[in-house]
Amino acid sequence: MAWKESKLYSVLTFTCPVCHEGDLFVSQPYALSTVGDVHPNCPVCGVKFEREPGFFYGAMYVSYALAVALFVTVWVALSVLAPDLSLVWQAGSVVGLLVVLSPFLYVLSKVIWANIFFHFDPKAAKGER
Ligand SMILES: [Zn+2]
Repeated sequence: MAWKESKLYSVLTFTCPVCHEGDLFVSQPYALSTVGDVHPNCPVCGVKFEREPGFFYGAMYVSYALAVALFVTVWVALSVLAPDLSLVWQAGSVVGLLVVLSPFLYVLSKVIWANIFFHFDPKAAKGER
């Protein structure tokens, strides 16, 4: 399987989970007024992203998992690399990082969620759909 056909490609490039070419999002993650806004349809293959009302609410589960994974990773890294850091600084660092990365995690959770339910279609990528 070619790299461009993998779900990881779609996730990392924030592109349509079906054709892997059209943008899933209206803007980049740190344009805060439109963060996480999804195009109604793919600009390339035309697939409807919100396949049912509230489809992207499920991305909250992914977002929670990403936040927990980040929290644990940073906490363990700080405990190993800076064991003398006070608890307040450790907690502040973790929470601060979560706040700074929250737009990125929000967008990432939506594209992962979409890739769970949509699958790559080589015909869509060639515009034959
Ligand atoms: Zn598409």
